[in-house]
This record gives sequence, structure tokens and C-alpha cells, in this order.
Amino acid sequence: MKLAADLHIHSTLSPCASLEMSPTAIVRRARELSLDVIAVTDHNSVENGFTAAKLAEASGLKVLFGMEAQTREDVHVLCLFEERGQAERFHGRIDALLPDVRNDPDFFGDQVVVDERENIVRHEEKLLLNALDLSIPGLLELAREHGGVCIPAHVEAPPFGLLVNLGMVPAELEGAVMEISCSSRREQVLKAFPCLERHPLISSSDAHYLEDIGRARLVVESSSPSLADLHAALRAGEFRVTYERAHG
Ligand SMILES: [Zn+2]
Ligand SMILES: [Zn+2]
Repeated sequence: MKLAADLHIHSTLSPCASLEMSPTAIVRRARELSLDVIAVTDHNSVENGFTAAKLAEASGLKVLFGMEAQTREDVHVLCLFEERGQAERFHGRIDALLPDVRNDPDFFGDQVVVDERENIVRHEEKLLLNALDLSIPGLLELAREHGGVCIPAHVEAPPFGLLVNLGMVPAELEGAVMEISCSSRREQVLKAFPCLERHPLISSSDAHYLEDIGRARLVVESSSPSLADLHAALRAGEFRVTYERAHG
């Protein structure tokens, strides 16, 4: 089956995202755009994704549990999970590795956990936009232990791209699916980083505002919307990226 996916969306829990990005609004917008699969990927947290998944139940939309983790090397990596329990346990481990630094909402923005009715459940007080006490290999291992899939995010883009901060692909990620920023052109990225020729290169929206959801979408030829099948299809190159607006 052909599935339309956007695997990189921020919510009100990311200090840098708009407060319009409630799980309710994200799910509504994803349905309007006829997306089949989304992932809510806040910085170092899965929490609002749980609400989004609950809201999407019984609709045609599949919500994968996700997080955009920030490793010790200041590299952003999307971590995706099929099951709530896997994501919950992973989230618990990640939270213990996040430095105990308070968020300053006036400087970084609010970090808001929201329920299905768009009520504020709580403000996350720990600053989520921070590096974990965890290396890239450590994160890959931790995600794998919890049944997750890791996709390095916007690898060519400063300030948090893998190739910008590391200058190379570590052995553990040889051949892995990588995300390039949806505002970059694939050919130019390959020219700058020829080592990416050996990797399937996806793009998602990295939306921080509702209007950005789906601005890049993956059209994946997958046997089911499960994370395992989607990831297998991405690894096999069974996808294309389409852009909502004129590109580049
Ligand atoms: Zn990022
Ligand atoms: Zn992001």
C-alpha cells in the first residue's frame, strides 16, 4: 500500500514550537492533509505523542511514538516506537539522562503538556532543548533495546546535524536511513556530503507551526503502517519525497 507520512512534527512541548501545536490540532491538520502516518517528535520527550496517539485511535491516522533526542555530541536523532509501553520506558531512561536545568520560558519558550481537550496538564520545568548525557552509539543501543528505530535528523543542517557536528557517519550508522532538511535540495546535499550516497535520504516537515505539517511528505510503498514495515520500506528505498510548496 501507498502511505503518506510525516515523521518529524513538534508540539507545544517543544519550547521552540508554536503554542498552536496541541496534539488535537496536529491530528486534525494531519487528517485534513490526508496523511496516513505521523510522529510527534518533541525534543527529548514523548509525552504529547501519547495524547496524539489516543486522539487518532479509530481514525485512519496512525501515530507513531517519537522523540527528537539530542545526544552528547549535540546531534539530533529521531527515535520512533510502535508501542506506547516501549516509548514510555525509553522516555523514562532519557529523562534520567537529561541535565537538571530549569527552563526559562521567557528565553526558550513554553514547554506545555496538553490533554485531549486542549487543557494544559502541566508545564515541563526541565529544559528539554538540551544535550543528554548519552553518546550517539549509546542512544542507538538504548533505542534498539526498547524496540525503536533511529533516524538522524536534518543531517546536513547546522547547528544539530550529524554531518555538521561529527563530519562523518559513525560505523554504527553505516547505510542507515537519514533525514535531510526539507528546505535542502538532495543533489546539493549529496555534493556537499558524498558519503550520503550510501544512505536512503528521507525528508519530513520538522513542523513547528501547523501550516508546516506535511510541507514535505514521504510517500512510502509499505506492506502495512507498522513501524517495522515502514522502516523496511525506507531502507529499501521504496519511497519518494513530495513537497507541498515550490521547492528550493
Ligand atoms: Zn532538530
Ligand atoms: Zn525537529
